[in-house]
Amino acid sequence: MIARAPEGIRYSFVLPVFNEEAVLPLLLHRLDKLVASLDAPAEVIFVDDGSRDTSAILLEAMAKEKPHIRFLKLSRNFGHQIAITAGMDAACGEAIIVMDADLQDPPEVVGEMIARWKEGYDVVQARRLSRDGESAFKKKTASIFYRLLGNLSSIEIPRDVGDFRLIDRKVLEAFREMPERDRFVRGMFAWLGFRQCEVAFHRPARAAGETKYPFWKMVRLAVNGVVSFSDAPLKAAIWAGATVSTLAVLYGVYSILAGLFSDSVVRGWTSTVVIVSFLCGLNMLLTGMVGLYVGRIYAEVKRRPLYVVAKKVGFAAAAKSETQEHARVA
Ligand code: UDP
Ligand code: MG
Repeated sequence: MIARAPEGIRYSFVLPVFNEEAVLPLLLHRLDKLVASLDAPAEVIFVDDGSRDTSAILLEAMAKEKPHIRFLKLSRNFGHQIAITAGMDAACGEAIIVMDADLQDPPEVVGEMIARWKEGYDVVQARRLSRDGESAFKKKTASIFYRLLGNLSSIEIPRDVGDFRLIDRKVLEAFREMPERDRFVRGMFAWLGFRQCEVAFHRPARAAGETKYPFWKMVRLAVNGVVSFSDAPLKAAIWAGATVSTLAVLYGVYSILAGLFSDSVVRGWTSTVVIVSFLCGLNMLLTGMVGLYVGRIYAEVKRRPLYVVAKKVGFAAAAKSETQEHARVA
């Protein structure tokens, strides 16, 4: 179901912007060069994620001046993942490219991504070979996070891939069917499937300004990633419960034997230990069981589609148009 873009727009660029006034002049210049080098018309969608500096004013003026620039202003800061979702919702091109506004996702890589799209790939991910200008702490925590998520998640989420990617229109349509509220966009694209490939690039330091992803925002993103794509934390309660109960039984047996056969045991100790350890274990086990059901409920309320169809061949609609085609020829 490929919606024809108005004005024949083929490429849509989506850039989330949060207090990026320092980098905007350079960004606009680089984007102009990029758009001019493309083989078909493009639109550039800036999503202002509640900036408190002059970014919004500048971008609004640009959108009025240049017909290929669009400006979408969110009413407050909703966060990066929501901002790119809003931009993708507004995109009308056949290929949609999401990139950061700070030039850490170099526009030069886009040419390579488009080439892969033309080869027939539906999702082209940009994988970071290196990350310049980021603290050792950020690099280390990111690497731990990707490894942890890789082990916990039920689907394979590619490592070192952020939100710099090109997607085909049909993938975007499928993405729009995912109404979940806590969004971990890179995981959602991994979940969606389709023909995916990667292009590698060296990630430069941001061109100007400071990171808009302070520590707590990163933690929130990481927790979202794990919780949205894995129920391992819930299952952990069951394992903890089972372990504690087993130990409690062993300890209970020991304290009963000690109570019976040893003189040094204080009266009442055996029964206290047995009751406390048994109830603790039981509590944890039951919490874990409730957790399993909560996990199911969580999966249900995310309201993801059950499956995603990549292509349909020979179905009624197509058959009808084929017959019409034949009728015309006859
Ligand atoms: N951003 C956003 N809303 C936020 C935080 C960030 O739209 O709440 C944008 C930001 O303007 C940039 C992109 O998301 O275009 C990535 O942010 P940043 O470069 O600060 O993250 P980092 O590269 O340091 O992880
Ligand atoms: Mg950045």
